[in-house]
Amino acid sequence: MPAPTHPPQQQLEAYATGELASDSAALLKTHLIACEACRAVVRAAEENEGRRLVEQPGEPLAADALQRVLDQIDGQSESSAPDEVPEA
Ligand SMILES: [Zn+2]
Repeated sequence: MPAPTHPPQQQLEAYATGELASDSAALLKTHLIACEACRAVVRAAEENEGRRLVEQPGEPLAADALQRVLDQIDGQSESSAPDEVPEA
């Protein structure tokens, strides 16, 4: 199965960050199934994005946020924090 033209990296990155319109994303997904090279680009973009989110100072973290995460890792079976579901 040939993968003749690769989507532009910009598009792959948009897909990785969920910013790509869903119809374009569907097309891209089809390409990714056939194209390992582009899958690697998407994966790298996802990792970059994750790193950037961590580095971004915009999100204020509670002083005990890290400790709470560590606690969760320590005692995962102890208590499962419920997902925050806003009740409108
Ligand atoms: Zn490709």
